[in-house]
Amino acid sequence: MKQLLLGIFAHPDDEAFGPSGTLVLETRNGTELHLATLTCGEAGQNPDNVENLGDVRLGEWQAAAQLMGAATTHHLGYRDGTLSNTSLVEIQDRIVAIIRDIAACQTEQFALELMTLDDNGITGHIDHTVASRAATYAFHRLKNEGLPLTRIRYICAPREQFPTPTTDWLFMPAGREPTEIDEIVDAREVLDTIHDIVRCHHSQRQDGEAHVARMGDAIAVNHFIVRS
Ligand SMILES: [Zn+2]
Repeated sequence: MKQLLLGIFAHPDDEAFGPSGTLVLETRNGTELHLATLTCGEAGQNPDNVENLGDVRLGEWQAAAQLMGAATTHHLGYRDGTLSNTSLVEIQDRIVAIIRDIAACQTEQFALELMTLDDNGITGHIDHTVASRAATYAFHRLKNEGLPLTRIRYICAPREQFPTPTTDWLFMPAGREPTEIDEIVDAREVLDTIHDIVRCHHSQRQDGEAHVARMGDAIAVNHFIVRS
């Protein structure tokens, strides 16, 4: 049966820094990957002082999506850092519409899974939580309507890497305990591709290089909370 996966994230580099290894393995195993970002990340770092950071970041996202083997990309056009309960209500309906469109294009039997961010926001960013909640809403609503949605995987940070909460910027919770983690994907065989994907986000290179250096091989080991 054809396997489809829709990844729903808030910022253009969320999947690159998070589950990109898992996504590369998925597409190499034949899964048809679709990606959605709620914002173009225009509030991110801008070391080259470009006027149109959002456009630059969308270009970086497209290049990264190509390396991940994505079939389609969907930019929802919300402003970075402004997502709220009001926008959530609209976003969740738009995610539902995207999934319906993807399903309508299928000519054979398929199964569709969603992937998103842990709803604790991982870093605590409210945009991450909105992406997670919108994905969760779409999953349950469409599953109840009979669409073949198999599961939703939430990329999360493990406690061993983030043992304590921080208040450096937003409140960032500690990582998830081992008992909270349902699946670990080891994508170290595609480590070089993961580095290339992170480095597509050239405008965010300060974060990207720090992430690569800090994580080592662990950048390729993804932890998920899984719900079906
Ligand atoms: Zn983000």
